[in-house]
Amino acid sequence: MAREEFDHIVVGGGSAGCVAAARLVEEGRYQVLLLEGGHSNRHPLLDMPPGIFKMINGSKFMQYHTTVPQPHLAGRAHDIPQANVLGGGSSVNAQVYMRGRPSDYDAWDAMLRGNNDGADWSWPAVLKTFRAMENNNRFNDAHHGVGGKMSVSDPGHIDQTSRWFVQAVQALGEPFNPDFNGRSQRGVGFYQFMNRNGRRSSAAYAFLSPLENNPLLTVRLQARAERILIENGRAVGVAWRDRHGRPQRSYARGEVVVTAGALVTPKLLMLSGIGPADHLRQHGIDLIADAPGVGQNLIDHPEVPIIANFDGPYGYFGQGNGWRMLLNGLHFKIFGGGRILSAGVEAGAFVNPQDPTAEPTIQAFCVPIVYVDRDTASLVENTYGLTVTTVVVKPKSRGTVRLRSADPTAMPLVDPGLLKHPDDMASMVAGQRFFLRAFREEPLAAHIAKLAIPSPLDTSDEALEEHCRRFVKTNYHPASTARMGADGDPLAVLDARLRVRGIDGLWVADMSAVPDINAGNTNAPAMMLGSRCADFIMDS
Ligand SMILES: Cc1cc2nc3c(=O)[nH]c(=O)nc-3n(C[C@H](O)[C@H](O)[C@H](O)COP(=O)(O)OP(=O)(O)OC[C@H]3O[C@@H](n4cnc5c(N)ncnc54)[C@H](O)[C@@H]3O)c2cc1C
Repeated sequence: MAREEFDHIVVGGGSAGCVAAARLVEEGRYQVLLLEGGHSNRHPLLDMPPGIFKMINGSKFMQYHTTVPQPHLAGRAHDIPQANVLGGGSSVNAQVYMRGRPSDYDAWDAMLRGNNDGADWSWPAVLKTFRAMENNNRFNDAHHGVGGKMSVSDPGHIDQTSRWFVQAVQALGEPFNPDFNGRSQRGVGFYQFMNRNGRRSSAAYAFLSPLENNPLLTVRLQARAERILIENGRAVGVAWRDRHGRPQRSYARGEVVVTAGALVTPKLLMLSGIGPADHLRQHGIDLIADAPGVGQNLIDHPEVPIIANFDGPYGYFGQGNGWRMLLNGLHFKIFGGGRILSAGVEAGAFVNPQDPTAEPTIQAFCVPIVYVDRDTASLVENTYGLTVTTVVVKPKSRGTVRLRSADPTAMPLVDPGLLKHPDDMASMVAGQRFFLRAFREEPLAAHIAKLAIPSPLDTSDEALEEHCRRFVKTNYHPASTARMGADGDPLAVLDARLRVRGIDGLWVADMSAVPDINAGNTNAPAMMLGSRCADFIMDS
């Protein structure tokens, strides 16, 4: 049988992978294969903004990585859900549009400066890419664009409880911020979302759909990559299994780009012989490149809920089930609006409770339901309530992704270490204390029946720390497990142009690549990485 050959192969059709593949196809010269391990993204639940809350705790569109027991969390093992569908995180996420702040990218640039082979990661450079991808429905200015493929919109529906939250936080002295992606992050306000008119603007929908009939693009679904094929120091293809479990191989005349997400990309590199020599030896894998940084430096945003019960039927409790769901659907069909246009979170804030003059340390999400992780759901009554989650935006804790075995079907061992660093715990406790005060401010306070968690009876540091250990969860942003770095940086897996050091023709362009996590949600940054990787490949 003739061997299947393409110009470029992209492994993992997620936020970054869809953008990278689309941009390479749009160039008009390259035959591109996109291998996606998950399912098709054609499903109404994926389209509609609140669909995430129907999927998050059990769906074929998700893959659940259960962490190794966390000793600093009294042995808890919590889940990190990741996408298992074309579009990746952008097909299942809460669609909050955030990019982080200029200092995030300027710090990456400083880390790589003098050693960046012309790759400029400073804020003005990445902002160009963000603006080029964006089609904003409110802003068109130095921070935002209107000509891009990804729709960014104001919330389609705002619940009154979200408005109460925004007003209560203003009563604490925080400014109303009309644009968290604008001049400053600080303050409280309403997020913008990656959707338009009730339709999710995933990377698959925005970037791949327009190329559906383009003969230069081949998309394989339920095509699970097992390893990168490397010959004489060059990536030449990918070994993968099709939906029937049959082994397949595809070859690249040009480049192989790995974008399988921050928990799977390091696993694929290690299975391919690229990783920490000792660890690969331990699993009997032939070493091709000793890369100690592969699977190290895992960063994620830790999130801890504050939950209060309302004194009446406020918020979204029950709105996604039974007759209420039908009514909401009908409302949308007849009047074209209503709750179905809400992603389930509308308002948020960025604050620094320890030093209000410095950059924010905490991001908050206001979720008008009782919202906790699967492993803690039984600890809180599911009824009418408001959850305010506090997230440490620049965590210092670091974790690892390691191989469980050399079997490609085995899930990796994920040790995220959320809140392991004492500074992260101190920030989190300060954030909890700050937002607990919001529940005592009007107009929110008038509608609160009781605080469910943390216990209002003891808000000492010790009690809040205990609450954080019990309820901390992922904000779904694993990152930095195969990161860029300068020459001589022992954890630098990639150079500044996203190329895997020591192997020709191999690139990593997903959230694994970032030198440090951005302050805020990570979907737009992942898409920016995919886009820039395509630029680098076309330049090379
Ligand atoms: C539940 C949830 C809510 C979130 N909410 C937000 C939000 O509101 N706003 C925001 O900005 N960010 C949010 N995020 C985070 C954001 O979506 C991710 O950071 C982003 O999608 C990561 O992009 P990526 O390209 O690095 O990886 P992914 O998008 O995860 O892409 C990886 C892709 O690789 C595929 N894959 C995995 N293994 C293999 C294999 N062996 N072979 C082939 N393919 C494989 C996966 O199926 C997936 O499609 C959320 C994430 C989740 C999971």
